[in-house]
Amino acid sequence: MQHIDEQYIVNNFESALEKGYVKAYYQPVIRTLTERICSVEALARWQDPVVGLLSPFLFISVLEKYRLIHKLDLAILDNICITYNEMKRQGLPLHPFSINLSRLDFDEIDMLDAISKTLKKYDVPSTAIHIEITESVMLDNTAYFRRIFDSFHDAGFAIFMDDFGSGYSSLNVLKDYSFDVLKIDMRFLSDIGIRSKKILASVMNMAKAIGMHTLAEGVETKEQMTFLRNIGCEMLQGFYYSKPMDGDLYIKYPSESKLGVEDPSENHYWNAVGQINFLSPDPLNDVTTEQIEHGDYGFIRENSTALALIEKTGPHVKLLYKNDAYEKGLQRIGFGSVDDMIKAINESEASNYSNVDSQVKLSIKTGEIIKEDHLVNGVYFSYYTKSIAEINGKIMLAASIQTYGGEADKITNDLFDKYSRMLIDTYDHISVLDTENNTVVTRLYSKMGFNEEYTEMPLDEAVKKFAENEIKESDRKRFLQYIEPSTLRDRIASSGKRLFQQPFHFKMQDGKYQMMDAKIMRVFMTYGDIYIFTVQDMSAQALQMADIMLRDHPGILKEQQ
Ligand code: C2E
Ligand code: MG
Ligand code: MG
Repeated sequence: MQHIDEQYIVNNFESALEKGYVKAYYQPVIRTLTERICSVEALARWQDPVVGLLSPFLFISVLEKYRLIHKLDLAILDNICITYNEMKRQGLPLHPFSINLSRLDFDEIDMLDAISKTLKKYDVPSTAIHIEITESVMLDNTAYFRRIFDSFHDAGFAIFMDDFGSGYSSLNVLKDYSFDVLKIDMRFLSDIGIRSKKILASVMNMAKAIGMHTLAEGVETKEQMTFLRNIGCEMLQGFYYSKPMDGDLYIKYPSESKLGVEDPSENHYWNAVGQINFLSPDPLNDVTTEQIEHGDYGFIRENSTALALIEKTGPHVKLLYKNDAYEKGLQRIGFGSVDDMIKAINESEASNYSNVDSQVKLSIKTGEIIKEDHLVNGVYFSYYTKSIAEINGKIMLAASIQTYGGEADKITNDLFDKYSRMLIDTYDHISVLDTENNTVVTRLYSKMGFNEEYTEMPLDEAVKKFAENEIKESDRKRFLQYIEPSTLRDRIASSGKRLFQQPFHFKMQDGKYQMMDAKIMRVFMTYGDIYIFTVQDMSAQALQMADIMLRDHPGILKEQQ
């Protein structure tokens, strides 16, 4: 690194200013979504005829020490105004310019007054100037700087917090002041590894939550640019797009680089777009700054993805956390609340939940997220489970639910509807039985031409009549044992399965008997004991096997049920 005598800087600074050796270089700021130039930062350069080009790092601290810095900053503002007016004269598209201020500027003179006078002299509006201040500046005298920033805001200037994250009190500064833009320095995250990425994503999240716009500086690579775009960083600045360049070069830059310049009248538009938090689980429903300002403290929004944490100790489950979305999901499938579900699992026999239970077992075994589709109370939904941790026989499960139905899932719903009708068509008969209320709820579907519907009488009576009318005599006794409504529940529970299946000879339309497959399935409802009774044709092979079985081992069917 170049070494320059402090004294050389002090002695030569003012004459260098006069002779125009000190001037602004310009580095464009790019709107991430459009890749158009939305503003530009002015950075001081000292082109010395004796010692060559001096970087700000060499002279700024010296100028601060000797209380000359405000002269530099006002000279840079002068430069900006000249460049701005030259662009205006040439009819080029205009955009705001940023200047960097030092904390000592405010100690030395009334900076707002000095800046306003310069702008007035050149007829440049305050909205064309952004003020950049590094975070370390503001630590010691909060009330004092707040007043200063308020007066800059009132005069129409936007204020950027420069080098966010490089100081040791960034969060305090954020808490105490309201900035328009948070300028995040990529260079303090020297490599863009997973930790840096997570930090940047969190900063982005936070900035949007408190209504500040985001700009990343020091962007050098395409990888950085892509990552920043994905996490919703609104503006980018760095060598990836351009190095700082002198005024003459910069004036030509927008047309030569083909980047184009954003129309400043679109500022509000892009600012509104910039408020969308790409990382939010519920970006459309995210809180806006106005809500925060109006004291709406519902701003800590819950995740729109359902989540519950359920601790399982043996068969017993305990709810530790659930969000609104999870509660709503369970209500959609017919539970009054999540607590109702937990109570039901703990109080009723395990077989009622055998489906979910086997899913849970699989997630414990694999450690993966297991997704299974279920039907409860006639509502089709996906349930997700993952085992998170395990200790002393306790297992913590994370669970999520996604229900289908309603307008939002119209396509899934329609498809489900369409194909479930086709599946129904593979059955020859379907009835719904309610053993608790002793009724045949409905004859849902039938191609069998049975004698009657059997819905007009109590279930126990219907079963007997059905066996008499529709089942071949040799099978009748076995059929009645198989379907016996009063013991159905216990028999299914102790079988560990959700269904019984046996072949019987049913009477066909032509009066002949044919062997068909009969199933009784327990349907999961939060109310009543509902079963579906189906009759289905059998494949030639299954028929052969059933024939052999009935002939050689008639007892086996009785045991199996
Ligand atoms: P800063 O305001 O944070 O400016 C960004 C610095 O990063 C600039 O250095 C710029 O040239 C450099 N930079 C921009 N893009 C990249 C990149 O992609 N990679 C790398 N490695 N560097 C990049 P510069 O111009 O040397 O300025 C250094 C600091 O000096 C500035 O940091 C600012 O705090 C201060 N400064 C510059 N000009 C002025 C001024 O007119 N007045 C005051 N008070 N301070 C100034
Ligand atoms: Mg800066
Ligand atoms: Mg910076």
